[in-house]
Amino acid sequence: MAKKEFKAESRRLLDMMINSIYTHREIFLRELISNASDAIDKLYYRSLTDETVGMNRDDFCIRLTVDKENRTLTISDNGCGMSDEELENNLGTIAQSGSLAFKKDNESKEDIDIIGQFGVGFYSAFMVSSHVTVISRPFGSEKAWRWESDGADGYTITEDTKASHGTDIILQLKESSEEENYDEFLESYRLQQLVKKYSDYIRYPIKMMMERSRLKEGTGTEETPAEYESYTEDVTLNSMVPIWKKNKSELTDEDYNSFYREKFFDYEAPLKVIHSSTEGASTYNALLFIPARTPYDFYSRDYEKGLQLYASGVLIMDKCADLLPDYFSFVKGLVDSQDLSLNISREMLQHDRQLKLIAGRLEKKIKSELLSMLKNDREKYEAFYKNFGLQLKYGVYSEYGAHKELLQDLLMFYSSTEQKLVTLEEYVSRMKEDQKFIYYACGDTTAHIDRLPQTERLKEMGYEILYLTDDVDEFCLKMMMNYSEKEFRSVSDKDLGLEEPQENEEIQKKNEENKELFRFMKDALGDRVTDVRLSSRLKSHPICLSADGGLSIEMEKVLNGMPGAVPDGQKVQAQRVLEINPEHPIFARLTALFAEDPEKLKSYAELLYNQALLIEGLPIEDPVAFTNAVCDLMA
Ligand code: ADP
Repeated sequence: MAKKEFKAESRRLLDMMINSIYTHREIFLRELISNASDAIDKLYYRSLTDETVGMNRDDFCIRLTVDKENRTLTISDNGCGMSDEELENNLGTIAQSGSLAFKKDNESKEDIDIIGQFGVGFYSAFMVSSHVTVISRPFGSEKAWRWESDGADGYTITEDTKASHGTDIILQLKESSEEENYDEFLESYRLQQLVKKYSDYIRYPIKMMMERSRLKEGTGTEETPAEYESYTEDVTLNSMVPIWKKNKSELTDEDYNSFYREKFFDYEAPLKVIHSSTEGASTYNALLFIPARTPYDFYSRDYEKGLQLYASGVLIMDKCADLLPDYFSFVKGLVDSQDLSLNISREMLQHDRQLKLIAGRLEKKIKSELLSMLKNDREKYEAFYKNFGLQLKYGVYSEYGAHKELLQDLLMFYSSTEQKLVTLEEYVSRMKEDQKFIYYACGDTTAHIDRLPQTERLKEMGYEILYLTDDVDEFCLKMMMNYSEKEFRSVSDKDLGLEEPQENEEIQKKNEENKELFRFMKDALGDRVTDVRLSSRLKSHPICLSADGGLSIEMEKVLNGMPGAVPDGQKVQAQRVLEINPEHPIFARLTALFAEDPEKLKSYAELLYNQALLIEGLPIEDPVAFTNAVCDLMA
């Protein structure tokens, strides 16, 4: 049969494997055992719903066989096996999740490092082998197939025979040299050690015939000196207790970390591990992880949330979405429960009462762990919040604020006075006695917001302002409406709840006196503004833009910026108000022009409006006309 070439992306990985100078080559064993275990899982799962399979849990096993003479190590399983087509598809190309993530992350990273960090699957066999043979017979088929390759120039698939279903992976180990030792993988004690180290939790027995030595019967007495004889014994190498069933006290950080990296394809240790067991209304073990970094596709549609779901130790679903609310979709991990029926269908699962119970308890658990992180390890929480805070804020906003109570204490915003992220609880605890509202201001960056004229008066009076920089922020606060009975209020709002009555009256009076002037300016600006008036929120700055009504200027920006959300020409617009500082010389100039040169006043109104847009970070309609007008003034 003609040799087939590996697919391009596989080639690169293969080259790395073959020429690997990586020192932890030993992980190949972990990878192949894990594949074998997956293959058994598949068949076992089928046996639960399909009586004709006729296999019991105890019938499954993974076996290591060493042939020192021929320098081969064979890893066998009696799992689902592969047909010729599956051999072609599965081993001819990098197909699966782990490898894909590898490819993606690999672009910016050192090749070698990555290999050790997480699964690279079947190809890792080539780190230690000069030739690999896979003999596989799919369950239910009479035919078996033989896949062979020495890596470099492709592979062949031919028909073969095999006594029973499953897969044998036969590794022809590389010759040892002075620098490299491959013989260790022929030593049963070394293999035993490696299984203990990497694959102890595998839930099927990993067996191997081992040479042992014992006292010969009848020797070792006073009359006959001790004589020893060797014998072979079939030994189960792994304890088969999955890590999540072990006691926390038995486990080290490294145990958790390597389990997480291997299982969830991350090259970094998790930021937080949540390991919990519960008994009572629902009995389950959960092992949850919060990643240290945002997965590259997290904020995209491709991201799939979910936890692995095991029923009494058997994997029944790889990504059970119903176990996690959207706002905690960043959590990875697994749940193992004995209360779930093993042969429940996916459709049934969605309505399962036990599953709902578990999901509810996990949600509480995740929240309380996050709160305690916030309280006890602020730095860590901030790192978490940087990655996933956005998701929490979406969570508050979604479903009409239904989850506000649950999430509000996990939120953080940048504070003008503390100059760091603060919680709403902290803000409220610092509120002044007469303070009615929780103030916030929006913009692209905290530095930009800090310069906004609208914040001036509040800052001067010593009020704390939350600076909102994410698109969702203001929507999130609007959805919450209040926190601890304190309403949220934008610094651009008409009523900041702080004007002393007398001052207020004065401004009202002045506004009234200059009614004609402001009407003239408003008419000059047309539909672009709903009002022009004097401001009480400005101290030194001449002008600013504010909004009447529910839609703020920042919300307008966000809504119009959403791709496809608003058809062109139908953009939403906040009711913009041009506010003028009565103490600023520009006001006197405007009143003078109103009497002397109304035409000039028109162009001044235009200029001021455009300047206010610039401050808000909004585009001006005609930048050329604007600069020309400024230059005319300068000339
Ligand atoms: P991954 O394990 O990340 O999917 P691998 O390269 O290790 O990637 O394996 C590719 C695919 O080959 C697996 O997804 C599986 O379908 C198949 N496979 C590998 N080993 C076995 C095996 N022992 N029995 C059955 N199928 C296997």
